Amino acid sequence: MPPEFLPVVARPQVRPATEGWSQKLDGEGRPLLQFASPKRGKPPAHFADLTVEQRKARLVELGMPAFRAKQIATHYFTHFTSDPADMTDLPAANREELVTGLLPPLMTEVRRLATDRGDTIKFLWKLHDGALVESVLMRYPGRITLCVSSQAGCGMNCPFCATGQAGLTRNLSAAEILDQVVRANRALANGELGGKKKGETTPERVSNIVFMGMGEPLANYARLMHAVRTMVAPQPEGLGMSARHITVSTVGLVPAIGKLADEDIPVTFALSLHAPDDELRDELIPVNSRWKVDEALDAAHAYFEKTGRRVSIEYALIKDMNDHAWRADLLAEKLLARGRGWVHVNPIPLNPTPGSIWTSSEPEVQDEFVRRLNAAGIPTTLRDTRGKEIDGACGQLAAADA
Ligand code: SAH
Repeated sequence: MPPEFLPVVARPQVRPATEGWSQKLDGEGRPLLQFASPKRGKPPAHFADLTVEQRKARLVELGMPAFRAKQIATHYFTHFTSDPADMTDLPAANREELVTGLLPPLMTEVRRLATDRGDTIKFLWKLHDGALVESVLMRYPGRITLCVSSQAGCGMNCPFCATGQAGLTRNLSAAEILDQVVRANRALANGELGGKKKGETTPERVSNIVFMGMGEPLANYARLMHAVRTMVAPQPEGLGMSARHITVSTVGLVPAIGKLADEDIPVTFALSLHAPDDELRDELIPVNSRWKVDEALDAAHAYFEKTGRRVSIEYALIKDMNDHAWRADLLAEKLLARGRGWVHVNPIPLNPTPGSIWTSSEPEVQDEFVRRLNAAGIPTTLRDTRGKEIDGACGQLAAADA
């Protein structure tokens, strides 16, 4: 019997609910959405927050020749150092003062967790005001990916996500986003990430960025874009990365998706859909009360049309909640209705909270979900859950420390 005709076993429908904590609610009793960053002490102004022109102007303001900006940029963006002792090409007299003024410490390492082979490292950083953020460094064959945070906390209040539980602390500055990459590159230069091929001596650096750490990147749009522009600017002005190797992931802030499509930087775009039907997505992704499934998919499709870059749909498979075969079929139908070849689907087993309704789907159910989408002509690959044993995803480390 071909697989399409296997009997369909009716599965229960588990509904989203919080366990052991409750979602903050707004005046109308709906899950609170925080789009604006609470006012807190500003992070120290940093050289990386500035454009190339502003950097030169800043040095002139400090009574230095403009060319010093390039020297400092080279130290920071090419050699990944903020230490005045490394900068012997700067005048000794006021080097210390100059460098600590321009490259003030933005984050201190609180904790670092690594997997057995050491090819995944999760960093927990403390910012100037005590806010905690995470980044995760992962070695894959042929690439090194850093998962970065764009906000401390998150205002999107998704009930399955550890970051959302405490709400939004504040936006990160562009430099706080960039410093996560610079610090990871520093760790790589020091040989701190395991799993390197024997005998391999070429220097390593982060090749891919995913904005899948803490926060909703499109809710911190201007700083996100300054960080992305600096990531793709050639060294030493920036990090010399390729835009297509940078993935911006969003819950679906539709107007900001349109803005992103209009930028001249074709980053890879990912939409955290997690349900193809509004009935479930309303509960799973509170921002669905603003922009519905079809609007989010239209915006994702428009991103493809504008940039020519195939977009990804993220889908955390949650046991008996969103993993039903009919949902795979409905998702395929909605994607195909907008065309072919514009999208691929990345299901990922939920990073579970032990003993709760938030459990990952069974392997056979995952496989069936993937099979149905592929059979319908939607390229679909199950994403691996790197770093599960170190709570590699989703704000779990900062939540444990807070
Ligand atoms: N706010 C952005 C980016 C950060 S979250 C967004 O929502 O896309 C990055 C991805 O991790 C999102 O797809 C998010 O839904 C997913 N995620 C959050 N908690 C998870 C969990 N417990 N298991 C698996 N994926 C999770």
